[in-house]
This record gives sequence, C-alpha cells and structure tokens, in this order.
Amino acid sequence: MKQLRRWMLGLVVLVTALGLMALQPRATAQTPSAETPATLASAGLTLEELGDGIYGLIASVDFPPANPNLAICNGGIIIGSDGVVVIDPFQNEALGDLLFDTVATLTELPVKYVVNTHYHFDHTGGNPAAASRDLPILGRGPIRDFMLTRNGDRDPNITPPEVIIDGAWDLWLGERQVQIREFEGHSGGTDVIVYVPDADVLLTGDLLFNERFPYMADGNIRAWQASLAALIADYPTATVLPGHGPVTDVDGLEALKTYLNQLVALALDWKANGTTQAEAMTMALPAQYSTFKFQALYPGNLEVAYQQITLGQDDAASIQRYLAAQPKALQAL
Ligand SMILES: [Zn+2]
Repeated sequence: MKQLRRWMLGLVVLVTALGLMALQPRATAQTPSAETPATLASAGLTLEELGDGIYGLIASVDFPPANPNLAICNGGIIIGSDGVVVIDPFQNEALGDLLFDTVATLTELPVKYVVNTHYHFDHTGGNPAAASRDLPILGRGPIRDFMLTRNGDRDPNITPPEVIIDGAWDLWLGERQVQIREFEGHSGGTDVIVYVPDADVLLTGDLLFNERFPYMADGNIRAWQASLAALIADYPTATVLPGHGPVTDVDGLEALKTYLNQLVALALDWKANGTTQAEAMTMALPAQYSTFKFQALYPGNLEVAYQQITLGQDDAASIQRYLAAQPKALQAL
C-alpha cells in the first residue's frame, strides 16, 4: 500500500512536470522581431572550431529550455574553397538567421546547402531562414512526411527539405568533399551523419547525445546500438560534434553505447524477473549519470526499454503507436 502510494505520488509529480513542460513554451512565447536579432549569447550558443574551416555552434541549454529563443541542439558550419554547408538551423527562424549571420562572420563564401540530420523540430524549425535565402534544404527518406504530420505543435512554420537524400551522398565545396551517410536508430528512418574526410570531423546529428539523456520515443534501441558500433568502427579518430552536448570523439560514442547496453541489460532483467512496467519505472537515475542534462527524458528512456526489450515491441508500427501516445511536449527532440 505504501509502495502504491509512493508510486501514485511519483505519477502525480511526473504528470505535473509534463504539464508544466507543455505549457512553458507557450507561456513565454514571443515572436523574435527584427529589432532584437538573436545573438550567440542570447541563444546560449558557443562557437567552436572543430577542424580547418569547420565549426560547431554548441548549445548549453537543459530541456525544456527556459525560453523559446535558447537553441536546443547544436548546429554546424563547413566551409570549403567555393562555398559553405550548414547543418541543423535550430528550432526557429531567428535562430536559423543567426546561423547564417555567423557564417558571414567567418567567410565571404556563399552558403550552398542546408542539411537536416533528421526531422525533429529542434533541428528543422529554423528551415524558413534557409528558404528565405532560396537555399536547397537536404533531408532523408520520410523526412517531409514526418515533419508535416508530426511537427505541427512545435513548429508553426514547417518548411520541409525539397531535396531528398536516398543512399550515400557526397557534396563538393570546391576541393572539399562532404559525405552524407544514412544510419538508423534515432528518428524512424530520417537520420544522417555528415563527415568531412580531409579534416576527420564527424557531425552525428542525434545519433549522439553527449552528457545528456537521449531522446528515444521514436528511436529503435537495437538499431541505435548497431549504428553506434558502426560509427565507432568507421570513424575511430574523428572529432565528433553530437546533436546535443559538448564536442567529443570516439569516447562520446562509446559512452552512449554503454548507456544503451545498460538499458538493454536492465530490460532483460525485468523480463527474466517478471517485473511490471510500473515497477520498472521506479528505477532511480544511476549515480554515474547524475551530472547529465535532459534528466526529464530518463523516465521515457526506461519506458522505451520496457516496450522494446522487455515486451519485444520494437517493430515500426509499435514504435509509432508509442510515439503518438506521448504527451505533445515529449514528441520529437
Ligand atoms: Zn535533437
């Protein structure tokens, strides 16, 4: 009975927290005006050189962000000898404009392409800044459909890519090759990585959350584990810009792989012991991860592990059903 009461209390706290998260962006929403353009400081971003002519804009915010103009994800800039590729123009047009303004402080060369590493709103909501500059936006697979049908609550001005990547793509910026490669696991068939061979710099999108709990509601744990193993094997010496969190290298990829391995081991224990989902959800956050950001996502990680590993519901239709049942505030990150 005491156990039940504690569980009910936990549920009330969780539901209240989710309710607050859902309300927060609306309560503080303000339309960024031309008089108050975003700055790196106002967006909570720091500019970091990852390699010769390659930059990351690194977001430091926790989730949910305190205001809608703090960038949630990391952005990227790759400068070649005749043009520039930018990656993931953040979650709104003002932040997208900031990405292009930042390019202009680094080079006079024109931006030629914009890449969305996957469909989630925090990486694609800034696409209108690309569209207003008549730039081609590249994305993979079902990204148009996913953006149009799923991002409406978080992105009032959905602007999907009009160039669809299918298979391995290479862009050329003069002498510089930029490789775009497909990997599975985070976002239902829209994930790509971007790699610059001459500088050994890898931009993973959300296949890597570094020092943050990953968003997993439409991920596939087994596929994600396999992708991390492949990235570790394929890019063992690369400088790595994750989708969220500080710049890292193969150690960051190993750390997320370890986290997912631990989740799977836990979920297999639940299966062996006949643990109920309610019991599984009472798992305390492991001390090893106490300094990680995005702690609000941890209960969801447990739930996804229970669904996909304990119950074995990891087919695309089951994952889609699970995602659709999530509170709006927790759909797509
Ligand atoms: Zn993200």
